[in-house]
Formats: sequence, C-alpha cells, structure tokens
Amino acid sequence: MKITELETIPLRLPFAQPFKISQGGDRETIETLIVRVHTDEGIVGIGETQAWRRQGSAELLWSLVHTIKDQFEPMITGRSPFDVAGIVHALNEALDNTLYAQAAVADALYDIAGKAVGLPVHKLLGGECRDRVRIAGLLAMKPTVAELLESAQAFYDRGFRHFGLKIGVDPRQDLANVVALRNHFGDRIVLRVDANGALSYDAALSLLRKLEPYDIDAAEQPIAIWDLEGLAALCRATSIPIMADESVSTDHSLLEVIRRRAATVVQTKIAKNGGMYRVWRLWALASAAGMRIYPGNHPSTSVATAAVAQLCAAWPGALMEGVFAVGVSGALAADVVTDPIVPVNGEIRVPPGPGLGVELDPEAIDRFRIDR
Ligand SMILES: [Mg+2]
Repeated sequence: MKITELETIPLRLPFAQPFKISQGGDRETIETLIVRVHTDEGIVGIGETQAWRRQGSAELLWSLVHTIKDQFEPMITGRSPFDVAGIVHALNEALDNTLYAQAAVADALYDIAGKAVGLPVHKLLGGECRDRVRIAGLLAMKPTVAELLESAQAFYDRGFRHFGLKIGVDPRQDLANVVALRNHFGDRIVLRVDANGALSYDAALSLLRKLEPYDIDAAEQPIAIWDLEGLAALCRATSIPIMADESVSTDHSLLEVIRRRAATVVQTKIAKNGGMYRVWRLWALASAAGMRIYPGNHPSTSVATAAVAQLCAAWPGALMEGVFAVGVSGALAADVVTDPIVPVNGEIRVPPGPGLGVELDPEAIDRFRIDR
C-alpha cells in the first residue's frame, strides 16, 4: 500500500461558551485541521491538529495547510503508510519544529494501519490494557465564583470527580475559587490548577503556598515555558506537585525537565507533541523517570480525542485523569464525526472500531470547513 495524497480540511468550530484561560482573551471559536491521508488501495486515514496560537503555539490554519500540502505531501507520497516511525523522522528532519503539522499526518498513518488490518490502533501499539478512560473536567475562567461553582457542579452531576481549574490572571480570585470548590465539594473531588505559564516566580510561589492547605493534586505550568530553573525551584519550595505542559514539546525538552527535576508530572497533547507516536515515546521517558502522566489535548473534536484514548488503552502503567477530552466534554458546541465520543459518568469508552475508531461526518465537515 502506498500514500497517494494528503488532503487538508481546515475547520472553524464554535465553543459552547466563550473559552478563557490566562493567555489571551475569551474565544468564541477554535480553528482545527483535519488531515485525510489517501492510499492507492482506497483506505483513507484521518488525523487532527489545531491552530491554537496560545501556550507557545504560533500555528495558523493556512501555515499548517501549506506545510502539509507543499512540503510533507511530496516527501511521503509513494511511501508505505505503515512506516510511521520513518515518516515522522523524515518530516522532522526536513522541517524542524513542525510538531503541530506532523501530528495530524502521523495519526492518520496509524488510522490507515488499523483500518488495513481491521484493528483499533491500541492493538497495534501495545494491546488492550483498558477499555475506558476516566477524564477530568476543565474549569475555564468565569467572571464570578458562583458561575465557576455552577460549571463545576454541572461536571460533577455528569460523574466527573477530577477537575483542572484555570488560574493565573488574578491570584486572589484563584485562591477564592479553590477555597469555594473545596468548601463545596469537600474531599469528593480531585483538584488541579493550571496557570498556563502566566505567573511570575514570586506570584506563583506566593499563590501555591496559600493553596497548600486545599489538597491540590498538581499545579500545571505555573510559570513561563522557558523557566525550567524556576520550575525546579518551585518543586523544592512547595508541597504541591508541579506539572510541566507548555515546557514539554520534544523528547529533548522532556529530558531537560527530567534532568533538572523541574516537574514531577508531565502533560502531553496530540498537537503540541506531534501525534501518537511521539506522545507514546514521551510517556515511556516520563515513566522511566518516575513522573506521573497526564493525558491532555487542546480543545478538539472526537478525532484527536480518539487518538489519546487509543494511547491510554494501550498504556500498561498508571495514567492520571487528564483533560484530553475537553473538546467533547462540553467545551466545543459541535463535532465532526458520525458517532461522537461522549463522556459517560466521567469516563470515555475507547472506540473499539478499526484505526482511531471514528469516522468523519460529511455534513458536519461541509458546515464548518472554511476553505470553500
Ligand atoms: Mg496546560
């Protein structure tokens, strides 16, 4: 079987409610890119990435399209879609730091391989270690504590017991939110906070010390991407475990975090880290270093959600309850597959069908694509 074409489908999808984190203003929509990799045997694989433009991402939909169509397509046309490692290596050699573009292509290759042999991707990676994955609810910033509690209660009522609270704009508000959540839910929930790199070292240390009595399971990327020394100092200065997210893109960057003991938890994302193949390698490195693994994603459709679910299914070790399903848990108002992944009782079922286990819905694609 040979690759014949990389088809790009740029989409703009509505958020269900304006999405607010510490970086940038409220967002009404997200730009996401579906890639369909065609083969000479008629099997078509799909993958997803996002033009996120926060948290160290500079991607635009059109730059992703150009990278994939003009650069990647001529390089890999004619190759076997089963050659995932070799193709990913070649793409990176040709265009360094194109992980967001590589992600959708690489995951589509796994989708093809699974479809070709009639097995879900996790059976190709390591076999089935779990068929359901517990996930966390993402608590985006709200104007008032009452509105925040309302959004948390809505997740709780749907069976969610793990929460990622966005912090980093106003430390007094952050503390008030954590106190309110803990008072309201007691020890019935696991609470994590995420500053998306927005705090100064001093502000982070001050806030984390104040949060210590509230049983925070991890503080995600409290300070800037580049400040690994600062992250390492925070690890020593607070009892709250520190999670690296934005600071980890390649395996080299994770190794640097490990060497400096700059975090004890790592978050991966399909787009940020370049797809399933690379995320799997990061998990192996992290677990060898004794780090906890937190499966994440930017808000995304069922396609990138399915990719992480496949990884989770194949992973034999412990995994934290991550926010990789944030898009399908209510952040996005629409999906683009025929049978969307829907959390039930705070868990998602790993799609059991061949490949990623999800198929595009042509009507939804037509409705949301912005290139026609
Ligand atoms: Mg994060």
